[in-house]
Amino acid sequence: MKIEPDQLTAFEGTRPGAPGYRFPDADIPAGKASVPGSLRRKIQAALPELSEIETVRHFTNLSGRNFGVDLGFYPLGSCTMKYNPKLNEDTAALNGFSALHPLQPDEDSQGVLEMNGRLIDGLCKITGMAGGTLQPMAGAHGEFTGMKLFRAAFRARGEEKRTRLLVPDSSHGTNPASAHLAGFDVVTIPSGSDGMLDPSALDPYLDDTLAGIMLTNPSTLGLFETSIQEVADKIHGAGGLLYYDGANLNAVMGRTRPGDMGFDVVHINLHKTFSTPHGGGGPGAGPVLVKENLLPFLPVPVMVRAGDRWKRDWDRPQSIGKVSGWYGNTGVLVRAFTYMLSMGGNGLKRASDLAVLNANYLLASLKDVYHAPYPGPCKHEFVLSAKTLKDTTGIAAMDIAKGLVENGIHPPTVYFPLIVHECMMIEPTETETKDSLDHFVDVMKELRELADTNPEALHQMPQSTAVRRVDEVRAARSPVLSHMMIGDRPD
Ligand SMILES: *Cc1c(COP(=O)(O)O)cnc(C)c1O
Repeated sequence: MKIEPDQLTAFEGTRPGAPGYRFPDADIPAGKASVPGSLRRKIQAALPELSEIETVRHFTNLSGRNFGVDLGFYPLGSCTMKYNPKLNEDTAALNGFSALHPLQPDEDSQGVLEMNGRLIDGLCKITGMAGGTLQPMAGAHGEFTGMKLFRAAFRARGEEKRTRLLVPDSSHGTNPASAHLAGFDVVTIPSGSDGMLDPSALDPYLDDTLAGIMLTNPSTLGLFETSIQEVADKIHGAGGLLYYDGANLNAVMGRTRPGDMGFDVVHINLHKTFSTPHGGGGPGAGPVLVKENLLPFLPVPVMVRAGDRWKRDWDRPQSIGKVSGWYGNTGVLVRAFTYMLSMGGNGLKRASDLAVLNANYLLASLKDVYHAPYPGPCKHEFVLSAKTLKDTTGIAAMDIAKGLVENGIHPPTVYFPLIVHECMMIEPTETETKDSLDHFVDVMKELRELADTNPEALHQMPQSTAVRRVDEVRAARSPVLSHMMIGDRPD
């Protein structure tokens, strides 16, 4: 059945006068309610009117139109859509975590404090850092927090003129945005023709206005920056700091550590590398870890051990303050902690090894089918380009993406990073079987063949999904986010 987008927006079966709910009789005598007139509804709320079973069917049907990693292969580059072990759900649901009130005193919250403290310890071990905070709710939030730490460190040194922050042109879009929001002047560093950072490109900026550099390593091209030691020496030599965007830790966990590469501040996307469910913008956690010299600036409160107890330390005069309302996204933190313990050190290392192996297997299988601008070997992900395909057949990266959707596979990240034309960025993760990788390769080959033999068919895909091609520009510029937007809105 094909349903056009506008049919999805109303509660289709609504029949006035046939609601599936009944409010209890009001127990406030008529005329006694003290809601001011200005706050009262002028017209009745437009609630859908459906029986209970129709409501259940409505939502169950809608849920089946979604796509998730539990439904199929999801090689969305830079997003690490690995399997989320269901064990994580059991621990996150434990009453001691899920029913705890954030205002409960330390004495009554020892379990969650210990979990937080030990999670930070584990993350420090994995990254080679000295301490950290679990407060940030996402990678971008971690970056922003890290940039605030940079500023606090420069302020403490009396070097507030350090405002220039270097960001390579292959970086994730959140990097320059976070740095800018935190008050830095962002300087984009062009990559070399091999996709790598060229250390000599930093030379013009190595002065006393340099704040530092923000890097993800391996980069979003899936390439390990082999000059990282030289880059770190240059930045530190000029008095700057290095920030590691650890969203791509899935390639290096257990193999190398950002702390050893010379980074001063790191964030980790727990919702990527540490197997907690994410998508559609949340939920997440972006803990930030720092070297010794930045510890005094961490957000309050800091988890500290006091004998055999844990407490939240608020007495940190140089702290940048709080960066979230409470103490972090606890449900996500418990899931990540569970993953870390159940994998163990060797398991985490093996996860990275297999993530890299899987990516290289796909790259080797596809590089003669599509153009591979950086032939590899790669780390956890790689990019292909549909540029020549588009020039010869009219089939663009977007058409390949839609063809994958038609085949029950989530598309890779497309048109990013911006430095590769018609880019498709593919990250299979370690949790896929060889069968699912081979199936992906088969489908990619079929689509490539279709581009030559029947491009029009590819332009028309997907055919069998609830929604076909949407107007992407309109979807971004004027999104309709609520059922209430359609029809009569009460106000
Ligand atoms: C996903 C990602 C981010 C942003 O993380 P969010 O949790 O989405 O804010 C930053 N950098 C890289 C390299 C990423 O892959």
